[in-house]
Amino acid sequence: MEERKLNFIEEIIEKDLSEGKVDSIITRFPPEPNGYLHLGHAKSICLNFGLAQKYGGKTNLRYDDTNPTKEDTEYVDSIKEDIKWLGFQWEKELYASDYFDQLYEWAEELIKRGLAYVDDQTQEQIRENRGTVDKPGTPSPWRDRSVEENLKLFREMKAGKYAEGEKVLRAKIDMAHPNMMFRDPLLYRIKFAHHHRTGDKWCIYPMYDFTHGQCDSIEHITHSICTLEFDVHRPLYDWFIETLGIYPSHQYEFARLNLTYTLMSKRKLLELVQKGLVSGWDDPRMPTLCGVRRRGYTANALRMFCDKIGVSKRDQLMDIQLLEWCVRQDLNERSNITNWPEGKVEWFDCPLNPADPEGAKRKVPFTGNLLIDRADFMEDAPKKFFRLKPDGEVRLKYTYIVKCNEVIKDENGEIVELRCTYDPSPEYRPVKGTIHWVSEAHAKELELRNYDRLFTLADMSQVPEDRDYKDFLNPDSLIIGKGYAEPALLQDKSGIAVQFERTGYYVEDKDSTPEHPVFNKTTALKDSYKPE
Ligand code: ATP
Ligand code: MG
Repeated sequence: MEERKLNFIEEIIEKDLSEGKVDSIITRFPPEPNGYLHLGHAKSICLNFGLAQKYGGKTNLRYDDTNPTKEDTEYVDSIKEDIKWLGFQWEKELYASDYFDQLYEWAEELIKRGLAYVDDQTQEQIRENRGTVDKPGTPSPWRDRSVEENLKLFREMKAGKYAEGEKVLRAKIDMAHPNMMFRDPLLYRIKFAHHHRTGDKWCIYPMYDFTHGQCDSIEHITHSICTLEFDVHRPLYDWFIETLGIYPSHQYEFARLNLTYTLMSKRKLLELVQKGLVSGWDDPRMPTLCGVRRRGYTANALRMFCDKIGVSKRDQLMDIQLLEWCVRQDLNERSNITNWPEGKVEWFDCPLNPADPEGAKRKVPFTGNLLIDRADFMEDAPKKFFRLKPDGEVRLKYTYIVKCNEVIKDENGEIVELRCTYDPSPEYRPVKGTIHWVSEAHAKELELRNYDRLFTLADMSQVPEDRDYKDFLNPDSLIIGKGYAEPALLQDKSGIAVQFERTGYYVEDKDSTPEHPVFNKTTALKDSYKPE
């Protein structure tokens, strides 16, 4: 394996291990089950599971399920499927909601220690009274309630005595703190919502800041890795752990993955699904893991991509062409091939993979009636056109050289047939062009779904204020075409994308039937793009 420099998280881990600060590492992947996983999550999964693998540690899958109105078991199941597909196995499957009793106890503990209070202010008042970075906040009129009163009110909140928004529980820290996070952060809010696991047991739910660190601590997570926007939360993460005197998990932040022509917000992806702007979460144009899987991207290619982009501390926009390059790279090594378009049946042994001409073979029937690609013939061809032209010669890939003698047209002047002769000589002789073909009698008609980028703007974080991100949907992101394939194609049930010679990689779609085969274009065969 190629040696690469340690990334900053690996440096921290190696230091912690060598200094005996930890015996072994435990990481976690903490998705909120409110949507399907996307390419950004793949980055986080490869990082968390990859680090544990590298250092002989473990990774928990922990659902961050504290927001019952948006969460669903459909998402819980899809997340597990996607992680397994990427090739990783979690140590334990856990839920933040498993810890609701413990979190509640800790909230009561803070109340008893005078470190939390019930606030009757409305959400707006709380926001207004937080102040700004230059202006200290205004203490709530309820900030100095007695411990007894706070306990009684908090228990009544839990018992369902108050309506949503009527009361919240807040930590009592410092309303003038330079870090706004410390200005009496919310710990609990009232929500009369059915939870996908705890049902109707709770009508108060803990906030992210009062949940995440403690969950990490309960599981003895040694390195809690999250994205950069959480760096302002870190001091509070530490404050709860220190104040409660529990296992000292630590948080480290890395830059989220942003990709050109791609949006990775579950909220917006959900909107595209709900508005029918895509066919579903697994539409092959979506940046979701189920979408790219249906498109024919391989798990191996995604892992290669995540490894190549590395881990950085500064936000950056990655070129989606690098991902496409990884897909091509992986498929080039593994995929089979088939021809496309024109018919005595001679069965040729053709290599399954053109990159490996000596490797395994497939049988392709050759007849006197063949289909070829429309673009491979030109009547008034320029000099440099080395495909088929009147009186010109071309090699039919893997087989004979043919010469075009006559062009047959219909009443509208459309070319309907080329009459050719073949050179039966077994002697090899060079000709300039080679084209692909398929025997018409054996050909199977295919629906081809050719995809382009879902969005037209490279940096989707630059959508102007007065515009909607949906204005940048690419109207040509799906173009349906027709093709003809040799019989071997439909016998292949590997689920791996195959190479349609000189055209691209295609994978059979879940909509495909024997009567109506449907193939998704995974990626083009070539691209001028080269990674650094
Ligand atoms: P979204 O905004 O799409 O809903 P999220 O961060 O809210 O994303 P979570 O389910 O909370 O989604 O994320 C689970 C984990 O995946 C978190 O640790 C989060 O930081 C990480 N993650 C999410 N998006 C990205 C991304 N684009 N790049 C890297 N990591 C990401
Ligand atoms: Mg989230």
